[in-house]
Amino acid sequence: MSAVKTLAAPIPPGGMIGILGGGQLGRMLALAAASLGFKSHVFSDKTDAPAFQVATAKTAAEYTDWTALKTFIEQCDAITFEFENIPAETVEFAAKLAATNPAASALRITQDRIKEKTFVRSLGIGTPAFQTVTSERAAATAFDSLGCAHAVLKTARMGYDGKGQALVGSASEAAHGFALLKQPAILEAYVDFQYEMSVVAARGMNGAFAAYDPPENIHGGGILHRSLVPGRVTEQIAREVKSLTQKIADAFGYVGVLAVEFFVSRDGKLLVNEIAPRVHNSGHWTIEACAVSQFEQHVRAIAGWPLGDPGRHANAVMQNIIGPDANDWAIYAGRGGGLHLYGKSEAKPGRKMGHITTLTPKTH
Ligand code: AMP
Repeated sequence: MSAVKTLAAPIPPGGMIGILGGGQLGRMLALAAASLGFKSHVFSDKTDAPAFQVATAKTAAEYTDWTALKTFIEQCDAITFEFENIPAETVEFAAKLAATNPAASALRITQDRIKEKTFVRSLGIGTPAFQTVTSERAAATAFDSLGCAHAVLKTARMGYDGKGQALVGSASEAAHGFALLKQPAILEAYVDFQYEMSVVAARGMNGAFAAYDPPENIHGGGILHRSLVPGRVTEQIAREVKSLTQKIADAFGYVGVLAVEFFVSRDGKLLVNEIAPRVHNSGHWTIEACAVSQFEQHVRAIAGWPLGDPGRHANAVMQNIIGPDANDWAIYAGRGGGLHLYGKSEAKPGRKMGHITTLTPKTH
C-alpha cells in the first residue's frame, strides 16, 4: 500500500476539516470545528444529510465516487469520518492525499466483528465467548459448543444500533437465524450483565491519551436510550476500563476519539462488546459536563493539536430522543437541560432525532 499523508505541523485555525459522513455525529463535529475557528466540508451519500446544515461546504456523492472524493479531499487539510460503515477503501484513498484519522487499519478491524473480537482477545482483554458462523450447520454446532441457554447471532459486518442481530435459544433457532441473515456472522454467548458501560477516549498524534469518565448505558431494542454518568460505575471499574481502552488505542496507534463498549457481567468481569472508531452517542453528555467535549477533542486530535482536559464537573444524564418522540420537542425544551435536535426531516421509528442532557452536582 502506498504511503499515507501525515501532518507536518498542527493545522492553524482557518483550516478545513473534511468529514466523511453527514449524520448527527458529523453535524456535532462540524459545530465543534467551528468553535475552534476551523471550517468544515462534509461529504455524504445523502442529499439531506443533517451535517450539511451547519458545514461550510458540502458534497453529496457516493463514497466510491473517486472523482468527487478527490475534489473534496484536495480542499481539506485533514480528513476524518463519523460513521464506521464508510467503506475502508474510501478512507484508504483519502489517506494517500491528506492526513486522515482514525487510520483505515483501525476501521478495517472494527468493521468486522470477527476481526474486532480476535484483536481485543489478542491484547489479553475479555470478550463474550463467540464462534464464527458461515453456514446453517455451523450455526447449530456453534450454539451447542457455546453451551449457554441463549446466544446472539450478529452479522459480522455492517451492524449498528442492534441491526442485523437476533437472540436465539436453541441450535435450530441459530440455524434458522443464519438462514435469514445469509451472510458471515458470529454467534455470541448471551451475557447476563449487571450493566453496560462505555469509555469514550482520545489519543493524540503524540500518543497522549485522555479518557472521559465512563457512563452506564441503558439500551432498548439494541438502541442506546440513556447514558448516566457515573451511574453504577465505581471509581475502581472506571480506572480499569480506562486502562483497557488505552491499551486498545495504543495497539491501533490510534488518533482521534474512540469508544469501547463493555458489559459488566454478574461475576464482575469486564467484557468488550464493541469498539467504535469515532465519536459516540454515549459521549454526548461531554458537551455540557466537560470543559472540552468529545467533538472538540476529536477535532483537536486530528488537527494535531494538544488534547483538551476530559475532566467532568457534574453528574449527567443524557437521554436520546428517538423517532416520533421528537414531535414532543416543546416538552423536552421545557425541561431546561441541554437540548440538541439534529435537523432530521422525518421522525421515523428508531431514528435518533436528538438528545437532551441534564446535569446535577457531581458526586464522584
Ligand atoms: P451491539 O450492536 O453489538 O453493540 O449490540 C447492541 C446491544 O444489544 C448491546 O448494547 C446490548 O444491549 C445487546 N447485546 C449485544 N450483544 C449481547 C450479548 N452477547 N449479550 C447480551 N446482550 C447483548
